[in-house]
Amino acid sequence: MANNHTDKYLENNKRYANGEAVHTPSYPGEQPINPDKNVAVVACMDARMNIEDLLGLQTGDAHIIRNAGGVVTDDALRCLIISHHLLNTDEIILIHHTRCGMLAFTDELLKAGLEGDPEAEALLQKATGRNFTSCNCSSGTPEQFHAFRGPIEALDAPRSEKQDERLSWDVRRSISRIENHPWIPTEGSDAVTVRGFIYDVDTGKLDEVSYPGPMGTFS
Ligand SMILES: [Zn+2]
Repeated sequence: MANNHTDKYLENNKRYANGEAVHTPSYPGEQPINPDKNVAVVACMDARMNIEDLLGLQTGDAHIIRNAGGVVTDDALRCLIISHHLLNTDEIILIHHTRCGMLAFTDELLKAGLEGDPEAEALLQKATGRNFTSCNCSSGTPEQFHAFRGPIEALDAPRSEKQDERLSWDVRRSISRIENHPWIPTEGSDAVTVRGFIYDVDTGKLDEVSYPGPMGTFS
């Protein structure tokens, strides 16, 4: 079973959180197309996270797939399937993080604001501190923004038990989507491993999320 590289990156993260530079930003020369450490990372696009730095990934080590929230969307699955079956990765690392913007809105709120609902506009303006300007039209795409499940909190609110719970729910949902995808094997000789983490943007540390476990409540 794979996973030896993930453990090594967790060790690197401890050193990173202690102020040590574990990523070497230099051109390594010619390298093969397959990620050298057979790792694929799915992480949020948050500007406070540098994935190479916080895991000590070197150029050529891993695929890094990023989007708002680090959500396992259709496109993230597309990337993971290509990454595994064509480019030989077999360890998947999922990273959500504290103070994530995806905790601070709902899909319906953002859609209503974009479509011109004055109340939603005012709420989004208050939440973000920017002059939210509605587009006053509807769109079929994106179908979902994948805002995190649970009661919304203020943008960039400090870490709390409730925040950890909501982040853990989404990490587990992400693991589950991968583990249950018919084209991503998690058993047998071609199996991939999937582990999920919460990154603390204030301390630089990663905490692993237990799986299986709760994936959230409706209200
Ligand atoms: Zn985020």
